[in-house]
Amino acid sequence: MEISEFQKFMYDLYAHNDKRRGGPATTLWLVEEVGELAEAIRRNDMENLREELADCFAWIGALANLYDIDLEKAFLEKYPLVCPTCRKNPCICTD
Ligand SMILES: [Mg+2]
Ligand SMILES: [Zn+2]
Repeated sequence: MEISEFQKFMYDLYAHNDKRRGGPATTLWLVEEVGELAEAIRRNDMENLREELADCFAWIGALANLYDIDLEKAFLEKYPLVCPTCRKNPCICTD
């Protein structure tokens, strides 16, 4: 699945809910899922980690749709197949 296909899928599935909920509340959902992701890491629960990564990815798609942002384009603008800081691939930054 391409990123654009993922974003379209998320739009068809949830855009009506996302629009009703709005940006700030949708952002809170993403933050909640990031918290669940942190908990999965802390517990070393690899099964749950997979699920929480998927949840975070889904909410990022929802937010991108809500603000009409092409996620693939935005990502490649920020990360043009090199590190945005050192401009190398692989990155040679120390952190
Ligand atoms: Mg979750
Ligand atoms: Zn770098």
